[in-house]
Amino acid sequence: MPRNPTPLKGQTAVITGGARGIGKITALTLAGAGANCALLDVMDEVKATAAEVAALGVRAEGYVADVTNSEQITELMKTINETFGAIDILVNNAGITRDNLLLRMTDEEWDKVIAINLRGAFVCTRAAARYMLKQQRGRMINIASVVGVIGNPGQCNYSASKAGMIGLTKSAARELASRSITVNAIAPGYVKTAMTDKLPEKAKEAIMGMIPLRRLSEPQDIANAVLFLASEESSYITGHVLHVDGGMGM
Ligand code: NDP
Repeated sequence: MPRNPTPLKGQTAVITGGARGIGKITALTLAGAGANCALLDVMDEVKATAAEVAALGVRAEGYVADVTNSEQITELMKTINETFGAIDILVNNAGITRDNLLLRMTDEEWDKVIAINLRGAFVCTRAAARYMLKQQRGRMINIASVVGVIGNPGQCNYSASKAGMIGLTKSAARELASRSITVNAIAPGYVKTAMTDKLPEKAKEAIMGMIPLRRLSEPQDIANAVLFLASEESSYITGHVLHVDGGMGM
């Protein structure tokens, strides 16, 4: 059978951290498959990114919002549901790093990373679940990390936040499954984005040595996995952690 080129036509995807990096490429990919997109980011750039997404012929809006602000996110999901008519797909992608060695890591560095990466995902999951439960259908995709599974020196805060996201994924998957809502996580390895650009050359070389496929990932590799988990083809998969890491975490 020929493949449907727009399997997500008419569906609405909410993508956090959608202004740039993995979030932006994910939005363009889901839009390419026909999905309308609501992008949410702390950066004003999110408006320009939404315009690029809309140029693909779908409805797209960019919202400046902070995933840690519970009230703002609850209100925004309501607005998105009213504006677009539904929330079918949620991609919890907003995330930051504040790396430091354990003994030097400050409480602020710990709290900030946990707040944005983990609490932010919880806040958005809870707010979007309200609408998915009503329509008895939905797809949630959490962008975790390989280091949430295998750990990484200098990233106690970040790896704990990503391991927490995996726990959130599995519990929410069990809780929401009876309403045909799937919740899965993707664990990327090292992806070429602003987040990894700032790594020193030596660290990049060391990382390359740990990747069996011998290349960093492109944001598109992650977006392809999101597309699969958002699509009908993955309807029997929930609570899963999909490693997209060139074999790094196996
Ligand atoms: P980027 O920094 O390029 O993009 C993340 C976006 O999220 C930025 O625009 C950022 O804004 C935004 N953001 C930060 N805090 C908030 C907030 N409180 N509310 C809303 N938006 C916010 O990162 P990547 O594209 O590289 O990463 C995307 C996700 O993938 C993250 O969760 C990351 O942990 C994960 N990941 C990335 C990997 C990589 O190698 N790049 C590997 C494994 C996982 P600002 O720039 O102002 O902070």
